[in-house]
Amino acid sequence: EVKDILDAEDASPIIAEAQIEFWEWLAQYYLCSEGEVMNAALPGGLKLESEMVIQRNLAKEIIDAELSDAEYLIVEALEQQDRLSIKEIAEITGFANPLFTIKELLSKAYVVLEEELKGGYKPRQARLVKAGPELNEDDVSAAFEGLGNAAKQRELLLGFFQYRNERGEVTAAMLLKRCKASDGSLKSLEAKGLLEIFYDDPFRHQHSEDPSANGLFPLSESQQKAFDDITQHWEQPILLHGVTSSGKTEVYTHLMAEVLKQGRQVLYLVPEIALTTQLIQRLERFFGEDLLVYHSRYSDRERVETWLKLFRKGDKPALVIGARSSIFLPFQNLGLVIVDEEHENSYKQYEPAPRYHARDAALVLAQQQNAHVILGSATPAYESYFNARKGKYHLVEMKERYGAIALPEIRPFNLRELRKRKQMRGYFAPELVDEIERQMKKGKQIILFQNRRGFSTFLQCDTCGHVMQCRNCDISLTYHKHRHQLRCHVCGYNTPPPRSCPACKSQQVRSLGFGTEKLEDELQLMFPEARIQRMDLDTTRKKKAYENILQSFEDGDTDILVGTQMVTKGLDFGNVGLVGIMNADSQIFFPDFRAHEKAFQMLAQVAGRAGRKGERGLVLIQSSSPDHEVIHDVIGNRYRSGYEREMQERLEYHYPPFYRLIRISLKHRKKEVLEERAVLYGQELKALFGRRVYGPEYPLANRLRGMYQMEILLKLESKLSLKAVKQALSERTDAFQQQHKSSPMRIIFDVDPL
Ligand code: ADP
Ligand code: ZN
Ligand code: ZN
Repeated sequence: EVKDILDAEDASPIIAEAQIEFWEWLAQYYLCSEGEVMNAALPGGLKLESEMVIQRNLAKEIIDAELSDAEYLIVEALEQQDRLSIKEIAEITGFANPLFTIKELLSKAYVVLEEELKGGYKPRQARLVKAGPELNEDDVSAAFEGLGNAAKQRELLLGFFQYRNERGEVTAAMLLKRCKASDGSLKSLEAKGLLEIFYDDPFRHQHSEDPSANGLFPLSESQQKAFDDITQHWEQPILLHGVTSSGKTEVYTHLMAEVLKQGRQVLYLVPEIALTTQLIQRLERFFGEDLLVYHSRYSDRERVETWLKLFRKGDKPALVIGARSSIFLPFQNLGLVIVDEEHENSYKQYEPAPRYHARDAALVLAQQQNAHVILGSATPAYESYFNARKGKYHLVEMKERYGAIALPEIRPFNLRELRKRKQMRGYFAPELVDEIERQMKKGKQIILFQNRRGFSTFLQCDTCGHVMQCRNCDISLTYHKHRHQLRCHVCGYNTPPPRSCPACKSQQVRSLGFGTEKLEDELQLMFPEARIQRMDLDTTRKKKAYENILQSFEDGDTDILVGTQMVTKGLDFGNVGLVGIMNADSQIFFPDFRAHEKAFQMLAQVAGRAGRKGERGLVLIQSSSPDHEVIHDVIGNRYRSGYEREMQERLEYHYPPFYRLIRISLKHRKKEVLEERAVLYGQELKALFGRRVYGPEYPLANRLRGMYQMEILLKLESKLSLKAVKQALSERTDAFQQQHKSSPMRIIFDVDPL
């Protein structure tokens, strides 16, 4: 809804002009409003909220006799401070609910109620002192004489000459403290025109030194080759396909130094900033003040300051390293964007709008600012690889690991066979247990990967087969042993585990499947002396938790690191002898057209953590289909064969990169309403787009967070004008919602869904 402009809060802008063009593109492409983009882009401190405040009605004289005691207290508070929110009044007067009294005052017209914009970031302004117009610097004695016996003022003036910096300024706070003087004395000096008090913009003197590339590691021959290839072709987006540990990071670092030296800005996108601490420390050494870090886990204040620092830099060099939201920052002279691990799903924002993909958006951002782009990965997204094969991107390959270390040896184990022969030791193949033992004896470290957190994956009744489900979602609850809780991983609902089956009252309730928590428990029983750490969403909620777990591993204080896909993301540890993949099946057989691609990426990435320095590493994969082609591709390091197989399928079944997808989620609390509306809406879309419309259908889970949901999928040939399709889609949807105003169903667009 369009609102009136009440006031302009900022004297100068906080958004660069270049950003607006980019935000408009985001809104248009991802089918959301520009307001939603701006809301996602701006850190909280740069946004304002409105709040009701009370003010004295200056037009009316207050007659004391008419005031009750309670009213008097509020009026008195308003005499001290002219505007107070209802909450502030409650705090000052101690009334739990001052509303009644405020209403009385309003009825007597003693106060007025107003809407005020609250919050917003006020930059820390230093109160500074400089020489005033009456101070003759060539002959200061006159000034001192003029002060007569005002000892404190003389002292302050003396202090000013003593403590001022090369710009002739000193902070008021420091001056007063050193001279043990009061603000009154300082104000007297100001009144005499000898000194002047002013407020400084904290970023005014920010200057950037020449970025030094000193201390960067010299590139190896293959890295230099990649570097040259990139810089010769970077008028076009580059896809850098380099095997795990080929030393891509070092190539990026040299490219960044190059672009900073040209006086331009760099955006270095990473999927998860917490896993990048080592890298940030290194980059800080080379790039000093030019390096800015941006991430949603940072406090709002930190984010606002990074934003403003970059904004004030204008077109001066800067290097931003950050997660997906850093594409929203006020770059004004972007020269290079690097998207590291470009295949990672964490670049996609699901909720709320804009549902953007930071890699794809970064390509547009770079184009708008005339910057180079490099997408890098050991396992590129098939869409990116397709673009490279087509010549839209320039492909640069690095096929060897840095230091010519061999890629790890990978051995699969057949879970089904081992179970049939009753050889499994808990969740472990006997070889995996032996190998863990052998590696620990050698002083090597071990990573175990299990893509489920919690203890068991679900609780099932042995008698009637009932599975404990979330109350709000179509999702089975996960048992968390340490908290003794059943939890829903979608909505967070939790409940103590039932003693008997809620359906048949049987006591035979079993927990099935296993998550990282149970894995950790079992390991500890098997290897009592091992030092084990677990890394998953449950153990990394606290601010420094990631860093601590990784530091402990790096320092050799952890023998075995157990974790979810967090352990697959770009970790670089020299001493990992063994990586164990507890069960590859859930990735491979996940019901999604990208399942094989994602499974290959995940397996190859986690395998890539093994043997990065010195000896060749070993990877053991447990699976009930060890002969699956995806596992064969991982073993043989054959990226291309999976890619080619998948391209066949995608072409045949109308999926990306040959077709573009728009997923439309429809939600309503009532199942009947949803089904009826969804069918009607689907018919309207079919009238528009014909056979390109699939559904409406129920997705895997019919109900999430208490809302029933259905989906419609649009599959659009790439030659179709996406802009025209989106236009038609928005218009038809608006009209549909107009016709069904009562109890509307929610309609959510996801362009290029993952
Ligand atoms: P990738 O990102 O391709 O997986 P990294 O950039 O992490 O690989 O490099 C793997 C390892 O080799 C790291 O430990 C890194 O410090 C080291 N390394 C890479 N290039 C160099 C170089 N030019 N000089 C010294 N060490 C290097
Ligand atoms: Zn039962
Ligand atoms: Zn739930």
